[in-house]
Amino acid sequence: MSVQSLCVEPDGVLRQPARPVAAFTNDLRRLARDLIDTMYAHDGIGIAAPQVGHAVQVFVANPGQRRGQELVVVNPVLVRAEGRAAMVEGCLSVPKIWERVHRAAAVHMTGHDLFGQPLVIQADGLLAVVVQHELDHLQGRLFVDRLPWYHRRRVLRTLRRAIRPG
Ligand code: ZN
Repeated sequence: MSVQSLCVEPDGVLRQPARPVAAFTNDLRRLARDLIDTMYAHDGIGIAAPQVGHAVQVFVANPGQRRGQELVVVNPVLVRAEGRAAMVEGCLSVPKIWERVHRAAAVHMTGHDLFGQPLVIQADGLLAVVVQHELDHLQGRLFVDRLPWYHRRRVLRTLRRAIRPG
C-alpha cells in the first residue's frame, strides 16, 4: 500500500491540463494502485492523477466503495452527455468545501484500461457525477469552477482562510 500525499488548491498541478498516457507500463499500473490506496485512505469515491502530483490522464472511481471494484480509466474522452442533475460535491483537493454542482445526468465516455484495452463507460447517477468530476481534474478544472462566480469567490476565500498557517 502506498498512500500518496494530496495536492491541494491552489497547487499549480491541479490547474494544468494532464497529458495523455503514451505507454501502458508497470509505472502506470503502480500509479493506479497508489491512486486507489490514496482514495480509500481519504474516504474518497474518486481521484485523478494530478491530485497526487502527476499531470497524466488517469483517474479511478468507486462510488460503491467496494474494494476490488474500482473503475480505472486512462485517457478518458467524453463522447456524450445528457440531461441535467445537481448533487452536493466535495473534493480531496478542496478540503472541507461541499457545494451543489450542476452537471449532465448521464454520460457516455471512452478510454483505456491499464493494459491499453478500450473501455466504454455508460454512467448515470452518482457514477456519472464522479467521472465528470474526475475528467474535470484532467482538464485542470475543479468542481468549484462550476459554481456561479459570486459563489465561487466566497468558497475560494473560505478555502484560503482555512489553509493559511496559524
Ligand atoms: Zn476532486
